[in-house]
Amino acid sequence: LAKSAGRNQICFYQDIMAHAMTARQELISDLRSAPDKGELRIHYQPIIELDSGRIAKAEALLRWSHPTRGLLGPAEFLGLAEEAGLMETIEQWVFSQVAADAHHWGTLSPEPFQVTINTSPIQFMHNGHARPWEPHLGLFAKSSTQVAVELTENIFLQDCRGLDERFSTLHKAGIQLALDDFGTGYSSLAYLKRFNINYLKIDQSFVKDDGTDFSNKAIAETIIVMAHKLGLQVVAEGVETEEQRDWLREVGCDFAQGFFFAHPVPAVSMELLIKSGRSFH
Ligand code: C2E
Ligand code: MG
Ligand code: MG
Ligand code: MG
Repeated sequence: LAKSAGRNQICFYQDIMAHAMTARQELISDLRSAPDKGELRIHYQPIIELDSGRIAKAEALLRWSHPTRGLLGPAEFLGLAEEAGLMETIEQWVFSQVAADAHHWGTLSPEPFQVTINTSPIQFMHNGHARPWEPHLGLFAKSSTQVAVELTENIFLQDCRGLDERFSTLHKAGIQLALDDFGTGYSSLAYLKRFNINYLKIDQSFVKDDGTDFSNKAIAETIIVMAHKLGLQVVAEGVETEEQRDWLREVGCDFAQGFFFAHPVPAVSMELLIKSGRSFH
C-alpha cells in the first residue's frame, strides 16, 4: 500500500510539473503576441518637486493586461520576457509608446516636464542593431517634454566598453540618465565621477523607516549630501507617508514619488493631472 501511495505521489508531482511547464509555455506564447494584440500598457507615476509641490516628472511603468489573468505588473512577466528573448520587442514597444505620450504632453503645459523610462541593463548593453531609443531620437529631440532613461547600478557590472558611446548618444539627443534603486547594487562610487549621470533615485528600502532602524535614514541623507556635492539631483522612491515627505524635504531631497502622492495611473489620468496643474503640498 505504501509503495503504491509513493508511486501515486510521484505521478502527482509529475502532473504538477507538466502542468507548470505548459502554463509557462502558454504565458510565453501569450506574451509574444501581447504587443500586437494591444495588451501592453504604460502606467505613469507622478514625481513631485518637493520645494514647489508640482509634478515635475512621471515614471513610465509597464503593465500587461492579460485576457484571463488580469493586469500584471512587470515582476510577473519581465523575467519570462528576458528568458524567452522578448525584451527587445517589448522595450521597443515601451519606447515608442512613451515617445508618443511625451510628445503629446509637451504641447499641454509650458512648465518643464520629464518622462522617465526603465531599461534593463542587459538590453541597454545589447549589441544588436535595434537599440530601442534609436527610432525615436528625432521625436525626443523635438518634444518639449524631456526624456530620461533609468538604469540600475548593475549597468556598471557589465563590460563597460561601449557604455560611454551609448551614454553620449543619449545625452546628445537631450536624454538624461538616472540611476535607479540607488544604494542596493554593487557598483563603485567611482562610476558617478566617470560617467555623466544626471540624477540618482534612492531606493525605497532607505525611505521606509520602521521606527527602529535609524541607519536607513542615515544612508538616505548621506546619499543626498553626496549627490549634491557631485552636482547630481536626487529622487526618493516609495514615499508613503506625510512624515517621510516632510523629512525628505527637510534634508534637501529634490524630488519624490510614492503612494503618498499618487499611485501609477493610466496615461489618460496622467494627462488630466498635467492639465489640472495640480500641486502636492
Ligand atoms: P522601479 O523602476 O524601481 O519602479 C518603482 C516600483 O515601485 C514600481 O513598481 C512602482 O509601482 C512601485 N512604487 C511606487 N511607489 C510606491 C510606494 O509608495 N510604495 C511601494 N511599495 N511601491 C511603490 P512596478 O510598477 O511593479 O515596477 C517594478 C519594476 O519593474 C520597476 O522598478 C522596474 O525596475 C521594472 N520596470 C517597470 N517598467 C519597466 C519597463 O518598461 N522596462 C523595464 N526594463 N523594466 C521595467
Ligand atoms: Mg524605475
Ligand atoms: Mg526604483
Ligand atoms: Mg526596481
